[in-house]
Amino acid sequence: MSHFKYFKKKLFIENTSVLNIAKKIKTPFYLYSGKQIEKNYINFAKIFKHVNPLICFAAKANTNLTIMRMLGKLGSGADVVSGGELLKALKAGIKPSKIVFSGVGKTEDELKLAIKNEILLINVESESEAILINKIGKKINKIISIGFRINPNVDAKTHKKISTGKAENKFGISITNFSSFYKSIEQYKYLKINAVSVHIGSQILSDTPYKKTLDVLSKVINDLNIKLKYVDLGGGFGIKYNKKDKLANLNNYAKLVSDFKKKLNCDIIFEPGRSLVGDTGILVSKIQYIKKGLRKNFIIIDAGMNDFMRTALYDVSHDIVPVIKTDKKSQNSVEFVGPICETTCKFVQYKKYQKIKEGDFVAITNAGAYGSSLSSNYNTKPLIAEVLTSKNNLKIIRKKQDLLKLINS
Ligand SMILES: *Cc1c(COP(=O)(O)O)cnc(C)c1O
Repeated sequence: MSHFKYFKKKLFIENTSVLNIAKKIKTPFYLYSGKQIEKNYINFAKIFKHVNPLICFAAKANTNLTIMRMLGKLGSGADVVSGGELLKALKAGIKPSKIVFSGVGKTEDELKLAIKNEILLINVESESEAILINKIGKKINKIISIGFRINPNVDAKTHKKISTGKAENKFGISITNFSSFYKSIEQYKYLKINAVSVHIGSQILSDTPYKKTLDVLSKVINDLNIKLKYVDLGGGFGIKYNKKDKLANLNNYAKLVSDFKKKLNCDIIFEPGRSLVGDTGILVSKIQYIKKGLRKNFIIIDAGMNDFMRTALYDVSHDIVPVIKTDKKSQNSVEFVGPICETTCKFVQYKKYQKIKEGDFVAITNAGAYGSSLSSNYNTKPLIAEVLTSKNNLKIIRKKQDLLKLINS
């Protein structure tokens, strides 16, 4: 989060004081740094420079149209997981030739939409899906470019709720099943297997699972002697949520991928989501009430699990930082909670925190990925505003949802 820094005890985003923004815009709201988005994309591309991959931003991490458009302008494609995300990627100006479509339950309408728009790849996750695509192809007499998402049965060593590459997970197709389908491909005249893809999980902090996955893929591709145009290596690159998080060594991994690419003579696709946008946003919130509890004080902020679901959904903690720092510590332990009527609508607990009062502003850190895109209208709360700093200007990139519209629907 290098574009979020304290200066004279005030939290700044780029060159602007967050306090000044919070005085102008009603809390809670998401606040993103345009510079940080740009920096992350350029940095990722630089690490994998020798691989020269197609980088397809995983839209579900943040589906804000302005952010998708920014990434598109930097050269990014999109990895989408629904017809809605596909339409958003197109609206954001991303070319169909840079869009890949993943997901275990794509409907016939969604597949037709992808085919009509001639996207680069549909990453198929089951035999049944492949057979349906073949049927659609036959009807319109068109050969359709697909990838097969393989489940490599590799443990990504991440949170179990965001692990996707083990045999017990619903994602992808096993190597045995892929092999037998591939051997019967002659039957399916309207399918062209141009790629295999993998995505083993999210917030991965070690390069070991990535290395294992490359080995598994090399073996399958060699055993079946398949000639592929692309290998899509997915996303999952972790970010530093806490000081103790240690990141995977991507430079080492880049070398391995570069060798892998040379051996197979194919192009590489990546699908990073979190690592491009996770540290680019904070959620600015106001302290509504402070309530003394028996063992701790509850700091009730105006953002809830409907606005930011990650802590409730994945049992992870995000630091909440004051917008104005003081040196004074409070005596009691504190827990930051939100207004939603659920016990899991809570964020983080501290043994000691600085002195803080009702009306003060705080920020949930590293909220740029799986923040706004996971938000909901639960408890009939409107979706909150999203704000971007761009070239020293503030831009509202999503207006707060109109409450009247919400209650009438
Ligand atoms: C969610 C997802 C990604 C992105 O994962 P990150 O951990 O955000 O990088 C990439 N590919 C697929 C298929 C996904 O479902």
